[in-house]
Amino acid sequence: MEQNKDINQFDIPLAKRTYLKNDKLILLKRLLIFSPFLIILFSISIFRLTRDIELRSYNNINFQAERNHDHRILGHLPYEEISKEKLVLIEPNIEVHIDMRDSLLKMREEAKKDGIFLVFLSGYRSINLQKDIFYSLKSIRNQDASERARVSAPPGYSEHSTGFAIDIGDATERETDFETEFENTEAFRWLKKNAARFHFKLSFNKNNKYIDYEPWHWRYEGSIEALKVFETSNREL
Ligand SMILES: [Zn+2]
Repeated sequence: MEQNKDINQFDIPLAKRTYLKNDKLILLKRLLIFSPFLIILFSISIFRLTRDIELRSYNNINFQAERNHDHRILGHLPYEEISKEKLVLIEPNIEVHIDMRDSLLKMREEAKKDGIFLVFLSGYRSINLQKDIFYSLKSIRNQDASERARVSAPPGYSEHSTGFAIDIGDATERETDFETEFENTEAFRWLKKNAARFHFKLSFNKNNKYIDYEPWHWRYEGSIEALKVFETSNREL
């Protein structure tokens, strides 16, 4: 009897311990069984959340584009061709809008006083000339339209057809003409510091998503007509 008692005394705590162990095991097993479902559920909710965020920003972009009605093509805005009467010749091959002639020539004079020699590379370009540039260079360089549009505007979409755009080089460093390296010239440094005084602004800066940085390309915004022409471009998207 006494032996039995002893056994019972030992059995009970042992049984209890086993029971506790089983309880933890069951919990662990349940967790293991359900964990794939939990992971799937978690993944689905993350997927839905990111998709919602993407959709929301996509709709927002569409809404903004619609509201602005800016009709861009490959990142370029449409520009009308200036009427011939408003064009003036400032150099044998360079015509510009009459509104910007005085300011442009004054800027070159002021630069010269500082020992900087600006050279005008390209002013007004007709839509037909732009057509030649865009399509001929595109085929020479074997680029598709969007690649080409990064460095040249499609015909009808160039600021040059307004007469308010001017490409500028450094007379002492002609190898940088139409090159990004122009930004390292004294002429560019001077323009960055002083062009605004003459109402000139860099059109395609480094933040532009579609069009490559063009440190040589400046536009005039010193008249109401010019401001109207570039109003859409100046509006923040
Ligand atoms: Zn240009």
